[in-house]
Amino acid sequence: IISKLPKVDTTIFTVMSALATKHNALNLSQGFPNYSSDKGLIDLVSKAMNNGYNQYAPMAGNLDLRLGICNKYELLYNSTYHPETEITVTAGATQAIYTIVSAFIHHGDEVIIFKPAYDCYEPAVELNGGKIVPIQLSAPDYKVNWAEVASKITSKTKMIMVNTPHNPSGTIWSKEDMLQLQKLTKDTDIIVLSDEVYEHIVFDGEQHQSVCLFEDLKQRSFITASFGKTFHVTGWKIGYCCAPEVLMSEFRKVHQFNVFSVNHPAQKGIADYMQDAETYLGLNSFFQQKRDLFLNLISESRFKFKPSKGTYFQVLEYSEITDEHDVDFAKRLTKDFKLATIPLSVFNENKQDNHVVRVCFAKTNDTLIKAAEILNGI
Ligand code: PMP
Ligand code: GLN
Repeated sequence: IISKLPKVDTTIFTVMSALATKHNALNLSQGFPNYSSDKGLIDLVSKAMNNGYNQYAPMAGNLDLRLGICNKYELLYNSTYHPETEITVTAGATQAIYTIVSAFIHHGDEVIIFKPAYDCYEPAVELNGGKIVPIQLSAPDYKVNWAEVASKITSKTKMIMVNTPHNPSGTIWSKEDMLQLQKLTKDTDIIVLSDEVYEHIVFDGEQHQSVCLFEDLKQRSFITASFGKTFHVTGWKIGYCCAPEVLMSEFRKVHQFNVFSVNHPAQKGIADYMQDAETYLGLNSFFQQKRDLFLNLISESRFKFKPSKGTYFQVLEYSEITDEHDVDFAKRLTKDFKLATIPLSVFNENKQDNHVVRVCFAKTNDTLIKAAEILNGI
């Protein structure tokens, strides 16, 4: 067999969650909540099943859900995406990202990616014959040097992949960053893939900077989003993407043969649930309380950190403890201390990333207290 992805191994999320189970460790590695999802949402999905939403959804998604998504963009960003032509419901953000890349990347096209990067971006580009052009961001601030971005844009640049709030670093892009992105892409054919799955998890009163707030950027961008993150149901694998019609019509050509459509009763249940905007507006304070609880508890530990500004992840720097490679350190933490984390270097071609591991704080307060006790003892 000639592998199409010779350098790719099993994803770190599967590896670390399996290791956590094997060693009976607290699992703060893979990003998912360990508390129950809202019964109100679950009841609405069973109601949809009882009401007959059990056959294929329309290819672009249940219309009530697309209307709900449209209303959200009007409410939060004063930005219009037409439900008929500019919003498509997907099997999680992962499928949206893969389908966007397949629909637009031709052999030899260059795709700019900021590293560390979420792990599904690069394989999608490689499988479609694209060439990755990495831009390295560094701990602890992971700030973009826009002069460097300008220097990497060529006539072959087809796409720039953006992720704010950023997994794994927990940093967010400012309005100035978005303006720079807009300036550099203006009058080009570059498509921006803006992964905004953590748009509702931004802390300390900061505003999420969506590409849809910047008119020129919006015209060249896809936004991808995930109900798994927003409604604490990562196992449902439902998300969506939005883009201007010229881009979305190309997306749908691929989407219809990629999955055709996604789980219908869950879409209808989510549509009914999100009619109440409080279901997603409350997320910032919900997760900020968890971040603050956790960080207060580990403030005297030997781990160094800058508080996460968004996402449900916190990165911890451990060079005061050991100079072990982060993959070895993360494995040892799981085996010997019963706490699973994600080593940052896996998002970064296994380069050492200044001794940093990522923890997920979408956990019960009880789990966070236990995790903090472990970290304080290291
Ligand atoms: N992008 C980022 C940055 C993520 O963290 C995740 C998920 N964890 C995804 C995309 C994929 O989302 P989904 O589970 O909806 O496929
Ligand atoms: N996005 C989640 C994370 O970063 C994991 C998703 C997955 O397991 N593929 O932890």
